[in-house]
Amino acid sequence: MIADQFDCIIRNGSIIDGSGQDPLRHDLAIQGDRIAQIGDLDGATATVEIDATGLRVAPGFIDIHTHSDISLTYHPGQASAIAMGVTTQVVGNCGLALGHANGSAVFEFEKRWLAPHGARIRWSSYSEFLDVVEAAGAATNIVPLAGHGTLRKRIMGIEDREPTAAELDAMQAEVADAMRAGCWGLSSGLEYPPSAYADTTELTELCRAMKEAGGFYATHLRSEGDALVEAVQEAIDVAEAAGVPLQLSHHKAEGQTNWGKVETTLAMADAARGRGMDVQTDQYPYAAFMTALSIQVLPRWALAGAVEETAAKLADPSVRARIAAEMRQTHPDWDDLSAGSFWDNIQIGVCRGRPKIQGCTIAALAREAGVPPIEYVLELLAGVEGYVSAVNFAMGAPDIARVMRYPWTSIGSDGVGTHPGGAGGADRIHPRAYGTFPRVLGHYVRELGVLSEAEAVHKMTGLPAARLGLRDRGLLRPGAHADITIYDPATIADRATFDEPHQYAAGIRAVLVNGRVALENEQPKGALHGRVLRKTRERVNS
Ligand SMILES: [Zn+2]
Repeated sequence: MIADQFDCIIRNGSIIDGSGQDPLRHDLAIQGDRIAQIGDLDGATATVEIDATGLRVAPGFIDIHTHSDISLTYHPGQASAIAMGVTTQVVGNCGLALGHANGSAVFEFEKRWLAPHGARIRWSSYSEFLDVVEAAGAATNIVPLAGHGTLRKRIMGIEDREPTAAELDAMQAEVADAMRAGCWGLSSGLEYPPSAYADTTELTELCRAMKEAGGFYATHLRSEGDALVEAVQEAIDVAEAAGVPLQLSHHKAEGQTNWGKVETTLAMADAARGRGMDVQTDQYPYAAFMTALSIQVLPRWALAGAVEETAAKLADPSVRARIAAEMRQTHPDWDDLSAGSFWDNIQIGVCRGRPKIQGCTIAALAREAGVPPIEYVLELLAGVEGYVSAVNFAMGAPDIARVMRYPWTSIGSDGVGTHPGGAGGADRIHPRAYGTFPRVLGHYVRELGVLSEAEAVHKMTGLPAARLGLRDRGLLRPGAHADITIYDPATIADRATFDEPHQYAAGIRAVLVNGRVALENEQPKGALHGRVLRKTRERVNS
C-alpha cells in the first residue's frame, strides 16, 4: 500500500545510496525518523518539501574517527560536524575516552580541556558518561568506543611499567563494563602515554575482554613513521591473537624518508584479510597531522606521570640536558634550521599561553630567538602554561591517494566537534574538524579524480556502517534511519584552512538527523536530533 502523505519529501535529487552505486534520480520520502519510500512520488504530499534538483542526496556521513567525546558535554550542537554533513560520530578514539575518566587528580589533563569551557567531569563510569551526553542532547548520533589510554590511567595512573595481575584484571573488567554500557569497540593510542607503556600481551588481553561483545580494535599505531611497518605488524598480531576485527586509525606514513611505506602496510592488511581477518583503515585527507608538541618531540619516559611532572623534568637543568642529548642522538637532523628541514614543517597550533606564536614554524621561532631548535622547544614546553599542539606537514600526496583508494579505507576526521564562537573559536586547530568530508568530495573527487563520487560517499557511509555493524544507517533504503546529507557536487568544498580553521564548508545544502532538519544552506541550526547509539541496544549486523 502506498501512503501519499509523508512528514518530508526530498524531490528530484540524485540519490547516492552509500553502497558504491552511481547516483539515480529519485524522490525520497520520510515518515517519522525513517526513510519510507524511494522512487517517483509525484502524487504524494508532505509537511516538509525539500527541492533537491541538481543536488546529491546521500546517507548522512559517518565520521568513524573523532575525539568529540571531549566537547559533547559543553558543545552538544557539534556545529563543525553537522556543517560538513556528518550525522554520526564515533568517539573515544586513540585510546582517549572520556567515559573512563573520573574526578580524581590523575585526570587533570582532561579537566584542562573541559575547564576553559566551563565543563567538568560529572560521571564516574562509562555508562554514566553516556547518560550525561544523552541528557545534554547531541546534534549527531554518537557511537562510543572504550579507550585503552584513559582506562589504564584510571587503573594504574601514568606509569611506565607492566600491570600487575590484579591491575590487568581490573582493566579487563573496565573494558567489559564499557562494552556493557554500549561501546562498540576498544581503541588504543600507542604513541601516547600511558597507552604507549602497554606491551602486545596487555593489548591482546584487553581485546579479548571485548571479543564476546562483538567489538573491534581501533589503533593509533605505536609508530606512524620510522617503525610504521613494525607497528602495523603489532596491530595485526594483537587483533589476530584476540580474534577481533582491526581498524588501523588515520593511516599514513610520516616523514619523507617513510613515504611509500603504506604500500607495504596495505599489502600486509590484504594478506591478513586473505587469511580471514577483518582489517580496515581510515584516513583524513590532509598532508599534515596535529597533536601535542610534547608527544611529537619528547622521549616517552619524559612524559610519564602528571603534566606537572613533565614540566618539572624540563625545569631541572640536568634532566633537561639528558632529554636534549637523547633528542639529538635519536634525531641528528633536529639541529638543522635550513629551509625544508624538520622544524620548517612544524608550526605551533593551539598555544593559549602564548597566542602570538600560533601559526609560526619552530624553525622561524628558533632563528628569531637565536637558539638551537631543540633548546627552543624545551624552553617553550618548560615555560608555557597549558596545552601546546603543533601542526606537522609530514605526509606525501601519493601516499594520501594510495590510502584513499584502498577499498577498505573509510573517511574519518580525527577532529573534535567545535564551532566558530566561544572559548575555542580562536584556537588554531586542524581544519579537518570543519573540512574533512567536503575536502574529499571537492578536492579529491572533483578536482583530482582520486575516487569516483559514489566510491567516496561509500567510504563515508556504507563502509563505516558495515565496519561498526550499524544496520539501519549508512545506506539509503526504505526502513533505514533518515540520516541524510544533501550537497551540491559542483560546489562542495572545504573552506577551513590551517590559518583560518573555523569556517564551515561550502555546498552542504541540508542535513537531516533521524528525520529532522539539522542544517539548511551551509548553516547548522543548533538542533539536537542525534542519539547515543549503544551497541547493546541497537540492531546490529552479526
Ligand atoms: Zn590518533
